[in-house]
Amino acid sequence: MTGPLDLDRLRADTPGCLDHVFLDSAGSSLPPTPVLDVVHAHLRREAEVGGYRAHDERLDDLEAGYGVVAELLGCVPGDVAFTESATRSWLTAVDSVPLAAGDRVLVTEAEYAGNAIPLLTLAERTGFTVEAVPSDGTGAVDVDALTGLLDERVKLVSLVHVPTNGGLVNPVREVVDAAHAVGALVLLDACQSLGQLPLDVRAMGVDMLSATGRKWLRGPRGTGVLVVPEHVRARLRPRLVDLHSGEWTGTSQVELRADARVFELWEHSAASRLGFIAAARYALDLGVDRIAAAVSDRAERLRAGLRSVPGVRVRDLGTTRSGLVTFTVDGVAADAVRDGLRARGVTTTVSRLGSTRLDMTRRGLDELVRASPHCFVSPEQVDAAVAAVARLA
Ligand SMILES: *Cc1c(COP(=O)(O)O)cnc(C)c1O
Repeated sequence: MTGPLDLDRLRADTPGCLDHVFLDSAGSSLPPTPVLDVVHAHLRREAEVGGYRAHDERLDDLEAGYGVVAELLGCVPGDVAFTESATRSWLTAVDSVPLAAGDRVLVTEAEYAGNAIPLLTLAERTGFTVEAVPSDGTGAVDVDALTGLLDERVKLVSLVHVPTNGGLVNPVREVVDAAHAVGALVLLDACQSLGQLPLDVRAMGVDMLSATGRKWLRGPRGTGVLVVPEHVRARLRPRLVDLHSGEWTGTSQVELRADARVFELWEHSAASRLGFIAAARYALDLGVDRIAAAVSDRAERLRAGLRSVPGVRVRDLGTTRSGLVTFTVDGVAADAVRDGLRARGVTTTVSRLGSTRLDMTRRGLDELVRASPHCFVSPEQVDAAVAAVARLA
């Protein structure tokens, strides 16, 4: 597909964007009508005939969903596992990596608390170490510093593609090439990139990818995805398994599935999963390249507008920028900015020290206001948001 997105159609598909300025797709976005309809219809059907029969009626669509996600992410359907969140995907992946005392795991300064807390807990129990790779002058992961830290004891590199607290986009292929040179696996946290930036697992070369449904993909809450290619699955040891992940083949024998569904559990919300698949299809139909161009346009417009307001500081790092725009207002607490904006019909969130401790500590920041415009936000709405910030500043 070529040319820009049809903004009127996009907005008509997104009833929630009409009466207020929604700038929180990095938190939990507005699902489009086709997603909402699928979820509603399935919940209604479950109430009519029961969850099992309703599920059987949608088996073909659920099965086709693996292909839809594979197309979106540049992998094959067998590499895809549906989960309940990005964190659930990330935990399942890390738990499957054989890590032992003396091993090393590297993270970046963009690391997210939801990953760091379980990783540090596991490290304490297991005896591996967790070390942070410094950032370069632009704020992105310093690939030379990473290369200097790597040796054969490094078993895993956790790379956050787009951090939860700013417009940075970390390089992926360079990190993967460096890590693979010593045999380390790379787990990409694509939670903030799925649905806003093109992602190609094969081209990036990542070993595992975790992402969520509710953010830029605009799926329902409680959905996520984990991608693990076949050659990587051969190196992992899944432990969080059930009767869907494997089969009880003898009194004390089990056989685990060979495909990535080994990382899924049997019970799930079929309505939410169908909603996730509908959201993936919606993104593919629009064209992720076109979504990315529109998001970048709105985010850059917002940054330029905010920079022109005295007392406002845009805090985004990196040279390649995402749709997450973060800023502070001199003398006004982030919560007060968020609340003041909400009273003026603009939805933003606050990102705090504790959710990205390494990066925030290095920059001496406690809190940031985060505004994340998706492609359905009109340029006029971006300008209205800037005007609202100017009145608060
Ligand atoms: C939101 C977020 C997560 C967690 O996603 P959940 O779906 O809530 O588990 C992970 N990493 C980053 C960078 C995030 O912004």
